[in-house]
Parts: sequence; structure tokens; C-alpha cells
Amino acid sequence: MRKTLFYDGSFHSGVREADTFRFLEVTDGIITGTYQEKPAGVRYAKEISLGGKHVYPCLIDGHVHMLFSLAVMAVGFTVCDITPAGVVPHNLAGVEKKIRAYAAKKPRNAVIAANNYILTAMDERRLPTREELDDWAGGRPVVIYSIDGHCSALSTPMLKKLELDPKGHNGTLSGEAHERVQGRLTDIISASITLPLLAKGIANFQNACAAYGISVVGALEGNGDSPKDRATALIVKLARHFDVGVRLYFQYIDLKKAEKYAKVQKHLRIGGCGDWEMDGATGSHSSAFHVPFKDTGTTAPCYYEQDFVDRIVKEADEKGYQIASHAIGEAAIERIIAALNQTTSGRMHRIEHGEFHSDASLEELKKRRYAVVMQPGYAWIDKRYLNTYTQYLPQEIVDRMHFKTLYDAGICLCGSSDSPVQDLDPWLQMLGMVDFYHPEESVTPYEAFRCYTINPARAILEDDERGTLETGKAADFFTADKDLFAIQPKDIVSFRPDRTYYGGRPYRKKKGTVAELLGSMLKKAKLV
Ligand SMILES: [Zn+2]
Repeated sequence: MRKTLFYDGSFHSGVREADTFRFLEVTDGIITGTYQEKPAGVRYAKEISLGGKHVYPCLIDGHVHMLFSLAVMAVGFTVCDITPAGVVPHNLAGVEKKIRAYAAKKPRNAVIAANNYILTAMDERRLPTREELDDWAGGRPVVIYSIDGHCSALSTPMLKKLELDPKGHNGTLSGEAHERVQGRLTDIISASITLPLLAKGIANFQNACAAYGISVVGALEGNGDSPKDRATALIVKLARHFDVGVRLYFQYIDLKKAEKYAKVQKHLRIGGCGDWEMDGATGSHSSAFHVPFKDTGTTAPCYYEQDFVDRIVKEADEKGYQIASHAIGEAAIERIIAALNQTTSGRMHRIEHGEFHSDASLEELKKRRYAVVMQPGYAWIDKRYLNTYTQYLPQEIVDRMHFKTLYDAGICLCGSSDSPVQDLDPWLQMLGMVDFYHPEESVTPYEAFRCYTINPARAILEDDERGTLETGKAADFFTADKDLFAIQPKDIVSFRPDRTYYGGRPYRKKKGTVAELLGSMLKKAKLV
């Protein structure tokens, strides 16, 4: 029993906005006491000053796609960056330049996967064609993902790798055609990741988490269209040795594929995006609404019929799984809610995104208290740079986006990044909460913080273990110079931790070498 006492900090428990204490006692990584006065007569192995800084519980990002995030950090790049001056680049000439520069540094057959293509910010309003990609990337297999992750552009060699006939194909995939190749695309991308690239990607991912103050991620992994899905098997093995806590949700409809991982899961969890999507996304005109899109006059269907969704949800609930399901349009949200309403376990289930719920769904959410895992930073970007919502959706739908209404109703509302769809940056997501799409739906910095701590701890079924600085919980915390709860709301986007601690130990930045990765694999494996 090694007891450590942290002192000289303003410790914010996170339980209530004004709750602070002055001494934090940690034993073997767990908080064993919080005090206003130094406990008398206790011998501590170590007493550590936190230099007068503010101290907060670490953040939890409940919805990332880790394998994709690692892959992008290993073999890809971000096409568009959002800067205060706007989206860069914002035309195909700029994209061409970026791809040419990146490809020139890569071997002749290197697979290239780039994300964050902001279609609606492009002067040309389209993705590159396969012929353009062939030219720009010198004949390499390339995939470019749109920022919402629901459409893509592929070069001819990439189409061929997917066994899609390039004849008459312009290289663009969207809707179900796009979703149904994600497993095979992931296989192709991951097969191209060498051990040194993987070590880099893993280090970059964990370094980014620690720099942002994140201690745990909910990772939505796996693709049903890949028969063996070796990439997912690998990620499970690796994630058990990360410093950052990883909680896996398996995106398989076929529970048998998930069951082989049951013994390494901390709680049984299933679903996410992938095969558990009820619909697509708005930027790709594939979110399911009862009314047509404003610009095309088309409607997109839910991906599954009600009785099928009812059946898979019932089976998973009865087998002890927590269920997460992607639903964006009102029709998709109604579909998953109707199925979840028939579950009997009482376990908290999750709706991912859940942006454009109908009034009836809002009432159901209030009553049944499903967790809603949103990305308000995306809406913040859309309002300023993408304008997909106002271009594609009727006003009555746009008006329906809520945040404070859900928060005030006591719904387990969470922020998340959907990385690599968006950068892992939780502070951008919190900006989206304090400066919401509809200003009257904004929350305070403290309330936004809760949507990244206590609420996601509940959404991953671990609110008894983390999410606040209280006795019995993990000693995962970060220090900062400024008082987060007292800052001007819009300054939250530039808020950064000074130092991040996992289990009472300061995180040491990873170098990304193969030796370091192999060394970490020798440590005791954790549940995921
Ligand atoms: Zn997602």
C-alpha cells in the first residue's frame, strides 16, 4: 500500500460546480481520501505539490473509432483544416497540391488514406474523381474520406483492391455502397501498416489523449463485412496495454463475432456505427428523415426494417450487452428508440449522434433516459464553414437541434469526437456546447465539462469508478493554470491541461518506437 498525498492544488471534484478540496490522497492508483486539511498522523510514501494549479477529473471521449484514428495517424493525413480564416484548402487545386506533396514522400505502392475532406467548403462542391486521384497520387491506392465519414473518393488501384469494376465508375462512394466496403477498406489500410508505422500511430493517439486531458475512450470497432476482421482482433490485443483506458464496443450484428472477446471486456458492449447504423449522415444525404432534403427533394431510408432492429436489440439486451447505435435523422432515431423501448434489462443503452430527434422522440428520451452521445463541435463547424444543415435540411428540422433541453431533462448527454471523423479535441466539442448551434440551447462551461466526465462515465457504465474526483474512483486528473469553470465560455476552445495523471502518475509522452510498443506489451493486460 503506497499512499501518496497531492497538495497545493485547487482540486475540483466535478460533482458540483463549487465543490473544491485541498488534499488528494491516492493509494495504488485509486483515490482514498479528499481533504480540506492535511490528515494528521498519516505517513505518506510521497507528498507531491501541484504548484498551486487547478485540478480536474480527466475527460472521457465515449465515441471514437480507434483503429481508423490510429490508421490516419499512421498512413494518412488530414485533407482540410479548419482555421479562423476558414477552411484550407477550399478548392481541388489545393487538394491536388496536398496529395501530390504527401504521395511524393511515399513508396510507389503505398496505401494512402486521407480524411476530413470538407465537400461543402470546396469551391467545386465535389470529391476528386478516380482519374484525378490516379494522376495526383502517381497511381497509388488512395481513399479520401469526407469529414462526416459517410462518403469517399477512391483511385483506380483502390477500386481494384476492393474488387470494384473501375469501368464507368467515377470513384465516388456514398450511402450504403460506401458503408458496406468499410471493413474491406480497413483491412486494406491496416495490411499496409508496418510495425514502425503502427508504433507511431499508437504513440500519437495516446499522446493526443493525454495532451487533451482524456483518460478513457469508448472505441467503436469492427466491421461485419470483413470475414475474419483481423484488424479488430489486433486492436483488442494492443488496446489492453495502452496507458489510456479503452472500452470496446463491437460493431457486429452477429453476436457470435463479439462473443469471442467477452472475456476481455470490462462490461459487455456492442454496437456503434458500422453495421449498427440506423442511417447515414446529413452531409451525404443519407440521414433518414420523414421529409425530403431541401436541395435534392430526395429522402433516405433507414438501413434496416423495424422488426429486424427489434430482433437484434432484444437478442443483445437479453445476452447482457449494453447497446450503442448510430441514428441521426428523426426516422432513424425513432427506429432505434422503438426497439430499445422493448428491452427489459434496465441497462443504460446509447444513441450515437441523435441530433435531429422528433418531438415524440424527445419525450421518449426524457422518459427512458438513454444516453445520447453527440458531437456539438461538428454542428459548430457546420454553422460557420460547412452550412450543410441549412443547405440540405428544411428549417423545421434544423430548429429541432437541442442541447440544453436534453441536459436540463437529466438525459445522460455526452460530448465526443467521433475521431477520426473529427479531431480528438474535446475542447472544440465543448465550444460547440457553450456556443451551441441555436444560442438558447447553449450550456455553461461546467455543464459542458459534465458532458465529458460524469455523463460519459455513466454512458460507459463506469460512474462508480471514474468521472469525478471522489474516494473510490480512479486517480485520473489533469492540472491547469486557469479555472475552467470561471472562464469566458468561448475561451474553452483554447483551454489545455498543463499535465495529465493516470492512476496518480504523470503521463510520460511516448516516442513511438517499436521497442517502446513491444515493451508496453509485456505489461499486465487490462480489461477493455
Ligand atoms: Zn462514429
